[in-house]
Amino acid sequence: MHEFTFQNPVKLVFGKKSISKLTNELAAYGNKILLVYGGGSIKRNGLYNEVVELLSKAGKELYELPGVEPNPRLSTAKKGAAICKEEGIDFILAVGGGSVLDCTKLIATAAKYEGDAWDFVSKKATPTDAIPFGTILTMAATGSEMNAGSVITNEEMEEKYGWGSPFNFPKFSILDPTYTLSLPRDQTVYGIVDMMSHIMEQYFHKATNTPLQDELCESALRIIMRAGEKLVDDLQNYELRETILLSGTWGLNGFLGMGNAGGDWGTHEIEHAVSAVYDIPHAGGLAILFPHWMKHAMQLNPERFAKFATNVFQVDPTGKTTEETAMEGIEQLRKYWSSIGAPERLKDYHIDESKIELMAEKASVNGPVGRFAQLTKEDVKSILVASL
Ligand code: NAP
Ligand code: FE
Repeated sequence: MHEFTFQNPVKLVFGKKSISKLTNELAAYGNKILLVYGGGSIKRNGLYNEVVELLSKAGKELYELPGVEPNPRLSTAKKGAAICKEEGIDFILAVGGGSVLDCTKLIATAAKYEGDAWDFVSKKATPTDAIPFGTILTMAATGSEMNAGSVITNEEMEEKYGWGSPFNFPKFSILDPTYTLSLPRDQTVYGIVDMMSHIMEQYFHKATNTPLQDELCESALRIIMRAGEKLVDDLQNYELRETILLSGTWGLNGFLGMGNAGGDWGTHEIEHAVSAVYDIPHAGGLAILFPHWMKHAMQLNPERFAKFATNVFQVDPTGKTTEETAMEGIEQLRKYWSSIGAPERLKDYHIDESKIELMAEKASVNGPVGRFAQLTKEDVKSILVASL
């Protein structure tokens, strides 16, 4: 194992009617609340009304930033930070999916900064303060509810990067599976693919002696796949929603990555370049790219990929070479994602070869892509070409 320091201060409030705890959680903070949300799903499923009623009963003064985009934009975060500065906001409440949460993380830190909010995302500056914020999560996918990560798109520069800071941890996250029942099938599939990808990004690492982490990852993947394939045909099933919701949080709250120096994350970096240029759903891109990344990276450590195949997909290694076993695991993953309706090719999003060079350039602008595979720009190009 690599040495590590672990701290995760997020208070998780999970379960049916957990929203009833909101008033208590807010009691420690001031009166002016900025409510940040997306394109309207929370109005359609009734959550908006519930939140507004609770805030009003608690005597809170409400300000709103609606319209956070999937793949949240820098301009929207700046709008939120400006409201915070002008109105002297005391606390921000993010209600929505990962995009709303990620945008809120930039709003909270940018509101305490005089420079350009992009400075944090581009790592030109480091946050030194933030407005406290909490979340009510409506989509199982990113783990943003219990991590310090945030992914922001600079729409003018066509760039999308992940960034983090200790100030990005929510004070609390309220997770009621009920609010995820309204997620349509496609978004449910994207969530399943994203959380599986997070676990795989952490699973493919260079550390040795990580049996606990490895087996937790393998079993989490099996549990997600088992629940996921039932859920996509039974979207109103509360218990399946519950399993998937908690799995998304576990997928990226740091517990699975202890001692592995963070894992790889190259596929996420390539996907960010793709969705920066084409604004496609994050997990749609991952579903296309990940199997091709695996085929590319497999030669670096075929044993690890064979272990993935046997322990996650029960591939029988008898009579096969390590490479054959590994390859069968990759094919099983592709088959599983296709079976639940995840996209297979970039052309499913009308992406052709014309901007491969540009995307490879954006993905590799900060040096080698990923920590396990450390891809060059040429490697990234070949993965993108294979994904067409
Ligand atoms: P999202 O972009 O937050 O939401 C996707 C869509 O689902 C939106 O149209 C949203 O509608 C809708 N939706 C959300 N909850 C719903 C519900 N309960 N019922 C009906 N519709 C609902 O999706 P996400 O996958 O959670 O977040 C994706 C973003 O997170 C990407 O930018 C990705 O790069 C980033 N990401 C972050 C991390 C991290 O650690 N921070 C990790 C991986 C990915 P409304 O807008 O109308 O609400
Ligand atoms: Fe992700």
